[in-house]
Amino acid sequence: MSSDLLLIGQSKGKFGGGQRRAFKQTQKKTAEGNKPSFATMVVIGNRNGYIGIGYGKSKETVLSREKATRNAKLNIIKIRRGCGSWQCGCRTPHTIPFSVSGKCGSVVIQLRPAPKGSGLRVAEECRKILALAGINDVWSKTFGQTRTTINLASACFAALKSLGERKLQVENTESLGIIEGVKT
Ligand SMILES: [Zn+2]
Repeated sequence: MSSDLLLIGQSKGKFGGGQRRAFKQTQKKTAEGNKPSFATMVVIGNRNGYIGIGYGKSKETVLSREKATRNAKLNIIKIRRGCGSWQCGCRTPHTIPFSVSGKCGSVVIQLRPAPKGSGLRVAEECRKILALAGINDVWSKTFGQTRTTINLASACFAALKSLGERKLQVENTESLGIIEGVKT
């Protein structure tokens, strides 16, 4: 299993800040002053059909990462891969078997099968998720406020989850070369 941090935060500072950071920093105003708090999002996967995503929040950066990692491990799902691209039809599991979409907040993401060699044509943070799931080629389309990385990542995860929810016919399983997660 390997894991990766999603850049959900933003550094503060002059010139508008704006550099992407792994820790999302928020503050609570109290009688004693500002109490900062940190949130992290971790993706975990075996690059072979298993993927999990977790969100953790704490007063310390390291603790929030540990919480997120633990949540990600509890959240692991098995996804289906295959070749659903009509331009390709190679029956190897390099992409997804059919188009799916996922939603979180205002963000909607559509993932479509792509022919071999097209790569992951998705937003940077979604690319991390798909790569850890073991998908090499995908086309995508997003709608809504995709700058909210947390929602974008959750939508992407929801889309991958829905891959496993559809009922499959035996002939489709063969013609699309669908396989489910492989334990490594
Ligand atoms: Zn193919």
